[in-house]
Amino acid sequence: MADLKTDIRYIKGIGEQRAKALNKLGIATLRDLISYYPRGYEDRTLSRPIKDLILGENACVRAMVATDPTAHRIGGGRTLVKCRAVDEGGSLDLVFFNQEYRKNSLHKGETYIFYGKVEGNLLRRQMINPLIEKEGQQQITGRIMPLYPLTAGVSQLILSRAVRQGLDACRDLLEDVLPDRVRQQHALCFVNYAYENIHFPASPEALEIARRRMVFQELFELTCGLHLLRSARKDVPGPTCRRLDLSAFYEKLPFTLTNAQQRAIADAVGDMCSGRPMNRLCQGDVGSGKTMVAAACAWFASQNGWQTALMAPTEILARQHHQTLAPLFARFGLSCALLTGSTKAAERRAILSDLKCGAIDLCIGTHALLTEDVAYAKLGLVITDEQHRFGVNQRAALGQKAEHPHMLVLSATPIPRTLALIIYGDLDVSIINELPPGRQKIDTFAVDESYRQRINAFIRKQVDEGRQVFIVCPLVGDGEEVPDERKAVTAYAEKLQKEVFPDLRIAVLHGKMKPKDKEAVMADFAAGQSDILVSTTVIEVGVDVPNANTMVVENAERFGLSQLHQLRGRVGRGSAKSYCILMSDNQSEETKQRLKVLTKTNDGFKISEEDLRLRGPGDFFGSRQHGLPAMKIADLSCDMRLLDEAQTAAKQLLAADPALAQAEHAPLRRRIDELFELNAEAMN
Ligand code: ADP
Ligand code: MG
Repeated sequence: MADLKTDIRYIKGIGEQRAKALNKLGIATLRDLISYYPRGYEDRTLSRPIKDLILGENACVRAMVATDPTAHRIGGGRTLVKCRAVDEGGSLDLVFFNQEYRKNSLHKGETYIFYGKVEGNLLRRQMINPLIEKEGQQQITGRIMPLYPLTAGVSQLILSRAVRQGLDACRDLLEDVLPDRVRQQHALCFVNYAYENIHFPASPEALEIARRRMVFQELFELTCGLHLLRSARKDVPGPTCRRLDLSAFYEKLPFTLTNAQQRAIADAVGDMCSGRPMNRLCQGDVGSGKTMVAAACAWFASQNGWQTALMAPTEILARQHHQTLAPLFARFGLSCALLTGSTKAAERRAILSDLKCGAIDLCIGTHALLTEDVAYAKLGLVITDEQHRFGVNQRAALGQKAEHPHMLVLSATPIPRTLALIIYGDLDVSIINELPPGRQKIDTFAVDESYRQRINAFIRKQVDEGRQVFIVCPLVGDGEEVPDERKAVTAYAEKLQKEVFPDLRIAVLHGKMKPKDKEAVMADFAAGQSDILVSTTVIEVGVDVPNANTMVVENAERFGLSQLHQLRGRVGRGSAKSYCILMSDNQSEETKQRLKVLTKTNDGFKISEEDLRLRGPGDFFGSRQHGLPAMKIADLSCDMRLLDEAQTAAKQLLAADPALAQAEHAPLRRRIDELFELNAEAMN
């Protein structure tokens, strides 16, 4: 007897090799297999007599092969097989490119189902490379065909057949994780019906009913899971802090904090005094001053006798934080260290021993802070900057350096609130929705290649006026193949140096360089030793060069709007008028619309909402970096209403049974434990 955990090799026709290929798709067990959702569907149910076929339409035809297929060699070593098929009222030419076997597999006088796009003209209809099946044995024609994401060695048909067997084997094993009451209240179908119709939709309506239930279930599980995580943490004590006046800290700052900054700090301080561990996300647009929120919290922790660790995603950013915060902390007689991958052994030893005896109040660093041999005397607060680069698990790993430290997460990726609820569902959220005074709007232009000369002249003018310029390319291009017309950093920098700006100082920066070299390039640029920095998005995060006032982004269509907005935040940091030029030769209306959003607004929240609307949440959910269970089926750009419903239902259920301890909720509890297994381990 098979069960849901049975290996997929159980399925007929899945041998060692196919199993390996399926593993690559994340399919190891029968449960994985039946939960492998199609990315889309193709409706192949439309069927017509030949005479009624409509040009340009995809349709099934039942017809008899009327001529012996003939094979011809055509140019480029290709072959062409041709024959004619007929039904009562018409005839259809069939053409196959590079399918020589068709010559022997199609037999004159036999009837088949052909599926394909109708081409040719009204007198001679034609199908090129149609799908062919025998009547009564149809698997890929005559139905709504699921389109699964594939990998080498796995075709749609192989998957579809395997899923069929999987569903048949599991039919009686599928527990419903949704409590009956919830299912009924929200008019959701039974679990078997849902699985069946997700993979083998009986009709478009059945598919919609099935999908609705699956999406609801996914969002419901996620919400319940996050809620449980959160309440588990609320049950433990956090590092104790007592309230104290922050004005001692504020007085020594070079500027007055904005109201939004002060609110975020007050939120965090409130958490730290609550007796429970803080778990807060502080979201604010680029340049909104999150570093000072971090500094205030670290100062507050130090006044309560706790050490703070501040983790940045890149060495450049860690160094920059250190440069800002070390002098500030020195003013309070507090000590601040920098620990990264390139810290020298002797220095590292000294820092480690100072951390261990509590002589360091704030330790800033990269992933190096997570290394096993780093131990703290009294770690009370863990801050991670630019959260979207760290997963929940990494956050948790840093948290393990102490019992249950306070956690503060800084994120410069403004995301719509509904989305924040999911991605950061286990965190409280503060939003900094105000920029420090005196910021000017960055003038943004979206242009195509016809502006190239003018843009180059503009760059020259800025440099002549003593300013510096960022040029961002989508690729590195160092020894790798450049796939198309995209600009690659190294090649483009060379070209500019040779052909356009022979007299200017052009520097190159990309992620494949050694950390030391990156440092040096950045430091030079910051010190005004180069005029133009041609770079990949490694400069996206944090880099602060006030004298750089112009950014040109090449192949701007390749980037997400939120990412472009982040990039743009690298300029406009000084007093000079700043510019961002988005180069794109992509003529699609969609691209133009997308880029136009950036020329219209500087508000990161608005931009991310547009981004989400235009591109769907793939960007946010495509990577599993956030460490939450991946969304397999929900599409949050269109499933927002369902999200709301699922969240409300989850809250109601948890209000009645906070730990999901009741017997009827056992399947849900088990499912959530499975989903969050990884996280649960890291969290405890
Ligand atoms: P981000 O939120 O992008 O991390 P930063 O913390 O790097 O922003 O701040 C951006 C710049 O604004 C820094 O140069 C910082 O010194 C400055 N800054 C921060 N807060 C204020 C403020 N209240 N008034 C004036 N300047 C500020
Ligand atoms: Mg920052």
